Amino acid sequence: MFDSTIAGSLPKPAWLAETDKLWPRWRATGDDLQQAKLDATLLCIKAQEDAGLTVIGDGEMSRQHFVHGFLEQVEGIDFEHKVEMGIRADRYKAMVPQVVGPLALRGRVHEAEARLLRAHTTRRTKFTLPGPMTIVDTVADRHYGDRIALAMAFAELLNQEALALQADGIDVIQFDEPAFNVYMDDAARWGVQALERAAQGLTCTTAVHICYGYGIQANIDWKKTLGEQWRQYEQVFPALAASRIDQVSLECIHSHVPPELMALLKGKDVMVGVIDVASDVVETPEEVAETIGRALQFVPKQRLIACTNCGLAPMRRDIAAAKLAALGAGANLARQRYGA
Ligand code: ZN
Repeated sequence: MFDSTIAGSLPKPAWLAETDKLWPRWRATGDDLQQAKLDATLLCIKAQEDAGLTVIGDGEMSRQHFVHGFLEQVEGIDFEHKVEMGIRADRYKAMVPQVVGPLALRGRVHEAEARLLRAHTTRRTKFTLPGPMTIVDTVADRHYGDRIALAMAFAELLNQEALALQADGIDVIQFDEPAFNVYMDDAARWGVQALERAAQGLTCTTAVHICYGYGIQANIDWKKTLGEQWRQYEQVFPALAASRIDQVSLECIHSHVPPELMALLKGKDVMVGVIDVASDVVETPEEVAETIGRALQFVPKQRLIACTNCGLAPMRRDIAAAKLAALGAGANLARQRYGA
């Protein structure tokens, strides 16, 4: 009861990449960089195990950014000529690659880190991929001319990699769809369908992470415009509840999401965000257990998984480590308190 896991990313060590950045530059190149990525992945596995987490990820050490890491292995994408584009409904500007031709995978994307993860922990493993709709919102399309067609094209490629990750021995494959909280109508109309295409044929556990973004200033400012109650999930959860996706990761602690919206996910495992990624204040295990207790009003205890609100990538490394420890200890406390 009360598995514990992170949404996906952890801060990269200073010897691997620039710190405190969403699109950090790597410190090495070529074979040295490949080795450094795997060394950092091993550290992440150890850190999560030491914190007592029960489902372990790779910390996303091998990708510069959670979307672009996947795109680097996709043919039909021009990474040489990035363009500035407003993303997430113009919330912030980013330099994004362009889609210039039919999409195809050049080969495996995450084989090295997935196999390393599987080889170095005996606990359950989780691997994250960007969701189709969020990818579409993070590239400049010069070829397909239609968001749904482009999303379905990406979904096919994601599916290829997801099936291969499953064959590598990964237990949970999670798609990250922060765009679902921005384009709620589209998410319900075709985003969930594209997600199901990406998960087609998987027999391992499948998950989707939907959040209000990393703790960067543009997101903090955006959240201030969302009013007293953040009800974005209300439009998307019914479509997810009817889907074949097994788990949903959502924000809880310090968010203005009405907790009763979790009840819309009947029949799904719910990864409840009990760690705030937008604050450097480290939660206590007591606070984590209390957040779990509040969520138990709306989520059955056998379906509740303790998680972070979002990735920890742009955070200071020592703070992230302390938050991991609080997550593991808080889930333990909740097991003692509510387990019987
Ligand atoms: Zn997130």
